[in-house]
Amino acid sequence: MLTNLTAQPADKILELVGMYRADPRDNKIDLGVGVYKDAEGKTPVMRAVKAAEKQLWETETSKSYTSLAGEPAFHDAMIDLVLGTSVERDRIAAAATPGGTGAIRQAMELVKLANPDATIWLSNPTWPNHPSIIKFLGLPMREYRYFDSETRAVDFEGMAQDLAEAKEGDIVLLHGCCHNPTGANLTLPEWAEVISILQETGATPLIDIAYQGFGDGLEDDAAGVRMVASEMPECLIAASCSKNFGVYRERTGILMAISEKADNTEVAQGTLAFLNRQNFSFPPDHGARLVTMILTDPALRADWQAELEEVRLNMLALREQLAAELQALTGSDRFGFLAQHRGMFSRLGTSPDKVLALREKHGIYMVGDSRLNIAGLNKNSVSILAKAIVDVGI
Ligand code: PLP
Repeated sequence: MLTNLTAQPADKILELVGMYRADPRDNKIDLGVGVYKDAEGKTPVMRAVKAAEKQLWETETSKSYTSLAGEPAFHDAMIDLVLGTSVERDRIAAAATPGGTGAIRQAMELVKLANPDATIWLSNPTWPNHPSIIKFLGLPMREYRYFDSETRAVDFEGMAQDLAEAKEGDIVLLHGCCHNPTGANLTLPEWAEVISILQETGATPLIDIAYQGFGDGLEDDAAGVRMVASEMPECLIAASCSKNFGVYRERTGILMAISEKADNTEVAQGTLAFLNRQNFSFPPDHGARLVTMILTDPALRADWQAELEEVRLNMLALREQLAAELQALTGSDRFGFLAQHRGMFSRLGTSPDKVLALREKHGIYMVGDSRLNIAGLNKNSVSILAKAIVDVGI
């Protein structure tokens, strides 16, 4: 039986990690995988996470099962973080999932149950795991235009034209903030226009929010999601705690399903629990418990927010430095988009051969589509990258 297996396509980003590790050069720079790194290149455990872990170790008396959808206190804390008061609580069903990826997967499973003929609309480009999961589940998908490779901003006209073709019941996957891989994001008036298109077509939004707090701050990053959730009858939201709490390996995420009327919430809640049971039974608890403790304890929360803000401002400063150094080296503003983009990533918008030249000649690793992880830089390596970009003729 096992001999029937054929090799699956390798994950390009994880493949890049392997290549970087195998590179013997001391001065190599990793701008590939989407993990936050500080100035020393470390991905630290956040202070509030450490403090919550200590408290948990001292107070936890059992590791017995929780509930299939995870702890209600986790749901409440995350709903508050992502949605604030934008939606009535009794319209929201929620389930803890293994990371944001788990939430996206469960959202797709839910779509498959509710409307297997729905087409899932994805931005071009998007996080490669989106189409990969959809293809694996055998759901129909289509792309909408998103990124203008000339301006490196959102091609909103193209996006609006394409989304107008969505059919009633289709699902439109939107990045809540800090678009991966481009770094180009919708403005609030553009979010409002997307909502009008969704309302006209009868399509349902699925929002993937994996970087809340990495762009313009916790509240601003959630503004688009909140606008959609408050104005659309139905909405699915997949949120990840991996990045903003730095709990990547704990696999902490949540799927929220907002029904038009509160009397549907019980069935939606039961379905989320059922789907968890079919796929992995109980969701991981450790990370969810830490997140709940942090969000509900004022001192832990204040410290987490302060550290998250440091992380955000650090990335913003690196963006500004890189744009300024490139401006000085090239005498042009064509890299100004790096300071306009938000989140951990920017797409340089160059060809694969230039990306290869950066790797081979300069030991600078980024994804083949020219996505670079800003957090992989520090004050010194920004200059090295800027010179290398000019050297390979980008
Ligand atoms: N969505 C996007 C756009 C991402 O970039 C990621 C992680 O890279 C995720 C979701 C899910 O992250 P995780 O499953 O690690 O929580």
